[in-house]
Amino acid sequence: MTFRISTVFRILFSVIWLISLAWLQTGLSTKTKLYVIDGNKYISAIEYAESQEIRTIFYDDKEKLEFRFQSIKLTLSPHSSFVKVNDKIFHMHLPVVYDGNDFFIPVDSFLPILNSTGLPNALLDSSEEYILTNAPNFNVHGVTIQNKVNGSVLKVNTSKKFAADVLAASITRGGWLNLTIAGAKVDSLSLVESQLRNPVVRIRTIQSQESAQVSFLLKSKVDDFELEAYNDHISIFLRTAMAENADKIKEMRRRWLLDTIVIDAGHGGKDAGAIGIGGLQEKTVTLDIAKKLGKLIETNLGIKVIYTRDEDVYIPLWKRTKIANDSGGKVFISIHANSAHKNHSVRGFETYLLRPGKTEDAIEVARRENEVIAMEEQYHEYEKLSNDKLILYAMAQSAFMKESEFLAAEIQKELDKVLTSPNRGVKQAGFHVLVGASMPNVLIEAGFLSNKSEMKLLGQSRYRQKIAQAVFSALVNFKDKYENPLISDN
Ligand SMILES: [Zn+2]
Repeated sequence: MTFRISTVFRILFSVIWLISLAWLQTGLSTKTKLYVIDGNKYISAIEYAESQEIRTIFYDDKEKLEFRFQSIKLTLSPHSSFVKVNDKIFHMHLPVVYDGNDFFIPVDSFLPILNSTGLPNALLDSSEEYILTNAPNFNVHGVTIQNKVNGSVLKVNTSKKFAADVLAASITRGGWLNLTIAGAKVDSLSLVESQLRNPVVRIRTIQSQESAQVSFLLKSKVDDFELEAYNDHISIFLRTAMAENADKIKEMRRRWLLDTIVIDAGHGGKDAGAIGIGGLQEKTVTLDIAKKLGKLIETNLGIKVIYTRDEDVYIPLWKRTKIANDSGGKVFISIHANSAHKNHSVRGFETYLLRPGKTEDAIEVARRENEVIAMEEQYHEYEKLSNDKLILYAMAQSAFMKESEFLAAEIQKELDKVLTSPNRGVKQAGFHVLVGASMPNVLIEAGFLSNKSEMKLLGQSRYRQKIAQAVFSALVNFKDKYENPLISDN
């Protein structure tokens, strides 16, 4: 006997439907088995946590078991009747039984604790053989949409951090952005009921056994997007604002001429910047390098140089990028000298790009360089550079990112040729002085004033000339690469 293809499909479909129905039903409430020890009812902590997708951490040295659920931390100790939930202590009528492997929790006093703390509510089944947890074990809960100047952030709320390699996203031709999360259980009701705002006009979810897909129907065309997973959400950064500017940028690139360079000598006036052991101030070093660099550019390339300052004066950070943008600058170079108070042996040179800081070091440098904001007398609103904001700023700058990356790499390469200090490479962090500069831009940390030998070198005019010369060479390489009308847009 032969099946007609449509019959095969119909059978296959029914099977799939039955499987998904069965799976859906078990997903609605989870059961955790009861154990009877000395006539009292217990549950296994491990089994309970697994059924609820609660993360558990066992502290070997203290023999403590910790549950982590969203922002809740619940701690159990062997043979103790105290349960700690965040900072609150609860007392149970019976102690936890510990068999060296698992923690058994007395159910009668544990259930009221669960139900008063925001952990998934549970109740004793009438058969008294297990507890039922009526909150389904979703780990993806909802969506919030935020609009920023340069684009939008879609925040998908989760109850755990999903690893980057279980996430995938793509934009389909119909304008749907599909986010696939392996291991996700989506609370589709609350997701679909999320408050919609531009650019999202509809949300759709598909749950399968191994993964879930959350799809957003987008109103406007998205140029670019990035995913980032956090402890309690996944952010999708959408860059939309640039779409209208894309042609303008293309045209700009075609006619691009390196005719104005902005040199920003870090700090100045009442803001000394880092101070070396011998009293050498960062503002003095940066101003001299800036002037030496400017002179090389003007005399050898005939390119206009704009200084954000050419004397020992204080200029607020926001004004520095304003000077750069108003002057029609084509490249912005901010010059600084570093300091590492904790470790005076650290030395070397590094060049920064405006990007979310990834390393502790980079964050520390950015913190120090941004500190000057506190000195500003006139109120100027700086946005707090959270990771989210930085990603958006960096994306807004992505029109120049390729150029900035190239320039930073060239500067490191050229400095490496003439300096004996260690090459600390190209790094990324959030610098206010680079935010808003609408041109390729980098920040150079030429050396460490906190290091005795490097401080001495930075104090020498000859050494500062070497630095200026290297940065100049990098600019020549940059000009050669990008200022060629025959080069295509790529
Ligand atoms: Zn500085």
